[in-house]
Amino acid sequence: APAVFTGTDVYQRSFNPQEYLREFYRLSNSQGQPNAFLTQNLRALLKMFSLEGLGGDTLIDVGCGPTIYQLLSACEHFQEIIALDYTDQNRRELEKWLKKEAGAFDWRPVVEYVCELEGDREKWAEKEEKLRKKVRQVLKCDVTKANPTEPVSLPPADCIVSTLCLEAACEDFATFRSALRNIGALVKPGGHLVMVTVLRETYYAFNNQVFSCLRLEKDVVEEAVEGAGFDVRFSEVQPCPPGNVCADCEAVLSLVARKRVPI
Ligand code: SAH
Repeated sequence: APAVFTGTDVYQRSFNPQEYLREFYRLSNSQGQPNAFLTQNLRALLKMFSLEGLGGDTLIDVGCGPTIYQLLSACEHFQEIIALDYTDQNRRELEKWLKKEAGAFDWRPVVEYVCELEGDREKWAEKEEKLRKKVRQVLKCDVTKANPTEPVSLPPADCIVSTLCLEAACEDFATFRSALRNIGALVKPGGHLVMVTVLRETYYAFNNQVFSCLRLEKDVVEEAVEGAGFDVRFSEVQPCPPGNVCADCEAVLSLVARKRVPI
């Protein structure tokens, strides 16, 4: 495990989106073993976005990275999506898929898997098109800034989703709590926060590059979410499926919270 925190400068310099996708987002590995970490998270996301009241006009994805899996069930419930990430090459990689450029990552097996969960595997192409149409902007953000999209001010959204970002972006608990307040301000009162976070992870690695991770416990995350002005509606811990040698994650927390309405 690295002793040193890998901040935004390291992401910008060393995070290779294509290698990241190859390592963590293929539905099965070269030996044909299913990617249980991914399928578990896809099932959790479907379950969370199916909860009553999760829907509306706008969804903001915070720390999207180069990935779309976190939007596949979500896109059925919102009209417009804005994706945010710090790292230029990650936003660029996402744009490649959105614009169907040559060399874009092939998400089809993952989209088919989600369509099958949702009842019709054959709808994968339709879902890809729906998602491409709904993602209206891909913007730079820094979750450690009071306004993460500064100098741009976004109108508050009906929902924000954030997967595997804050534990990577935050050096300590104080930063984690303030990052949750910062991204929490992007949501309307009564709107929702959907999160997928690894627990007790200190690093993840791919492409001979190690990235630090803030070691979180369920209670710490829930308290930070409550402290950012949200009420937790759903919180579920699942053990990290074995077989993932590229990280020391022990469990995954899926959480949905609703922003309190001032009285
Ligand atoms: N959401 C994706 C990517 C997670 S990897 C997924 O589920 O796989 C962590 C992401 O956090 C990277 O894309 C990185 O660029 C982003 N990140 C790191 N520090 C950040 C910061 N301070 N503000 C916003 N994003 C940050």
